[in-house]
Amino acid sequence: MSTTSSLYDAHQAVRLLINGEFVASNATERHPITNPATQEVLAYAPCATAAEVDAAVAAAKAAFQSWRNTPIAVRMRIMLRLQTLIRHNLPRIASILTAEQGKTLADAEGDIIRGLEVVEHACSIGTLQMGEFAENVAGGVDTYTLRQPIGVCVGITPFNFPAMIPLWMFPMAIACGNTFVLKPSEQDPMSTMELVQLALEAGVPPGVLNVVHGGRSVVDALCTHPDVAAISFVGSTAVGTHVYNLGSQHGKRVQSMMGAKNHAVVLPDANKTQTLNALAGAAFGAAGQRCMAASVAVFVGDSKDWLPELVERAKSLKVNAGAEDGTDIGPVISKAAQRRIEELIATGADEGARLLLDGRGVRVPGYEAGNFVGPTVFAGVNTKMRIYTEEIFGPVLVCLEADTLTDAIALVNANPFGNGVALFTQSGAAARRFQSEIDVGQVGINVPIPVPVPFFSFTGSRGSKLGDLGPYGKQVVQFYTQTKTVTARWFDDATVSSGVNTTINLR
Ligand code: NAD
Repeated sequence: MSTTSSLYDAHQAVRLLINGEFVASNATERHPITNPATQEVLAYAPCATAAEVDAAVAAAKAAFQSWRNTPIAVRMRIMLRLQTLIRHNLPRIASILTAEQGKTLADAEGDIIRGLEVVEHACSIGTLQMGEFAENVAGGVDTYTLRQPIGVCVGITPFNFPAMIPLWMFPMAIACGNTFVLKPSEQDPMSTMELVQLALEAGVPPGVLNVVHGGRSVVDALCTHPDVAAISFVGSTAVGTHVYNLGSQHGKRVQSMMGAKNHAVVLPDANKTQTLNALAGAAFGAAGQRCMAASVAVFVGDSKDWLPELVERAKSLKVNAGAEDGTDIGPVISKAAQRRIEELIATGADEGARLLLDGRGVRVPGYEAGNFVGPTVFAGVNTKMRIYTEEIFGPVLVCLEADTLTDAIALVNANPFGNGVALFTQSGAAARRFQSEIDVGQVGINVPIPVPVPFFSFTGSRGSKLGDLGPYGKQVVQFYTQTKTVTARWFDDATVSSGVNTTINLR
């Protein structure tokens, strides 16, 4: 992998982007960006200094003064160019993403395409950001709303979607007229930086988009910075709660999308082949490192008899480096993540769950150093076990049983997370009842990973989210703008009344 482009400094560290320039950081601390299949160090992510964070925010603040008044058509055309550039560079960026993150090439392309769809939606910002108008709310009085940008917005992103999640954030924020400071995951910021470079090439002016790298010190500096107006966070529950609290205490608008434990409820009338294929794909795809992965299966009634076939499907999945043809499951992001997943698998066995398939100790010829965990299936799980209560974030499916749909709904609703849920059935009545009674923000009906397309919004709920508005779609336009309501009366000299009105009524 070449690190000779303008995105890297002489010591292979990813540069920062401040005021339109890719600059080397003066950091004394840096994080190795490692290929999870080989342990090759691809580059380093510096931990930006306090002065560098200040410079990025100052550049964004200064750029806001003119960018906020840039015509809508100019902003839309930049997004149109960005979508073309991303499409042209897709295979190249996908291979960088696979190298630094580990997922398969096909999934890396999917990561970029799901983000690209948000850029496409941002091309419609003209209609999305329109206000409302009511004529004659009183005699000669009109009321209308303006949706104005709010200033410097910050994005803090996780390792698992280094393309899609940054693209959930900066295109919509910028299209609304805000300026942006992005803090990508220090584990895999290389593909993110390629997208950022394309944004500059598309015409995003200096200072409108800035990037700083680092961990907690950088995140805390951004959450407490007096010139930051809003923060979008996506990542773990522990960090997301910290960011939400710190940002809110400092007067920021914050949205925090966090951890998950997504259930797939299987009714005995479901189409067995489709259901088992969907379950295996959603539980083990991307090595289970998706916030919308199906990590819990709830078999209702006789559908539990399908478990052996599910295990056969899981066994048939090929574990290998993401860059190799035919790979179904790539490595997990780091040795630390691999250790944590393997430790949780051990607790499941210790706590009495039946380990039907054990993915520990998988060896991949040619990639012996990789962070591989094979598909793992537990049966006989109860809601007290750590493999049920904790997000594992690996290719591990835990299976529970319920007697009825009512019991299954109660089980899902008792779990604190609320990111996603799926129901497999051929009964419209069961599906309708489920969508109404289930207390989870994103519901799939015979769809295992129900991530909404960008003209809707991402609507995870309860323990998976803090803040009321979600990423992308109409909700994020609300998040990235302030509504101003104008009530206006224009006097015609011939009809001016001479009386003083001391009431609240408009007359
Ligand atoms: P993470 O919380 O470790 O990191 C997220 C971001 O926070 C990164 O930019 C990281 O540098 C920063 N960070 C890490 N530790 C920090 C600290 N102590 N203080 C301040 N900032 C810190 O998350 P991750 O491991 O990169 O991503 C996986 C998690 O993200 C999973 O829990 C997954 O469910 C969640 N996720 C949620 C969604 C969603 O939409 N709900 C989407 C994707 C991922």
